[in-house]
Amino acid sequence: MADTIGYVSSVQSLGAVDGPGVRYVLFMQGCPLRCKCCHNPETWELGKGTAYTVDDVMQKLSRYVSYFGEKGGVTLSGGEPLLQTEFATELFSRCKSEGISTCLDTSGCILDDKVEKLLTLCDTVLLDYKMTNEQDYFDFSRMHMSQADKFLEKLDDLKVTTWLRQVIVPGINDNEQNVIKLFELKKKYACIEKLELLPFHKACVTKYEQLGLDFPLKNTPEATKSQVNELFEKIQKKF
Ligand code: SF4
Repeated sequence: MADTIGYVSSVQSLGAVDGPGVRYVLFMQGCPLRCKCCHNPETWELGKGTAYTVDDVMQKLSRYVSYFGEKGGVTLSGGEPLLQTEFATELFSRCKSEGISTCLDTSGCILDDKVEKLLTLCDTVLLDYKMTNEQDYFDFSRMHMSQADKFLEKLDDLKVTTWLRQVIVPGINDNEQNVIKLFELKKKYACIEKLELLPFHKACVTKYEQLGLDFPLKNTPEATKSQVNELFEKIQKKF
């Protein structure tokens, strides 16, 4: 059973921004979306990446377990980990049996019985909620907002602790109306523990150049942490 292979684009041994505490983060290969702000275009194509078994991962992360503390653990990010649900499920079952916290970073693009089973093994889900209206959502990511909503409803049904996250891009979604809608979602769904606004940045430009790809937001200014915090705090006061 532990022979299932996961294709991994890269690993961050001690990440601090992908879920609670300090985490061992696996960026899985493959993603069906094409978000205009994507920082990891090298993960898009399926069939690339390094092959790992669950045993490989457990062995590699064992040296970092002592750093996890109470909150930390393992995060599957990407790319889109839901393209490799079987591997993710096996890995998270092993983590749970060894008392290691599990976190899934996803767009919510797939929802079937296998994904539902995986969700029951997640201590936290980071749901990347791209925009707050259907047209912008699809234009920005090539995924329908209704799919993200369906996924969020399932997380709520299953009572999975959820962090709703959105990258804030100047001139695209850095407006109050958008953030109000995110806070409304937080109010509506008890599963949402936290809302995170992430400032858009362009550290990925070199990756696009190396891959010979055009970065659609190359001429868009970056957002600063203070701009995003200001927007967050302003709207938070209304709720
Ligand atoms: S879902 Fe994530 S990995 Fe996929 S295109 Fe969007 S930002 Fe990139």
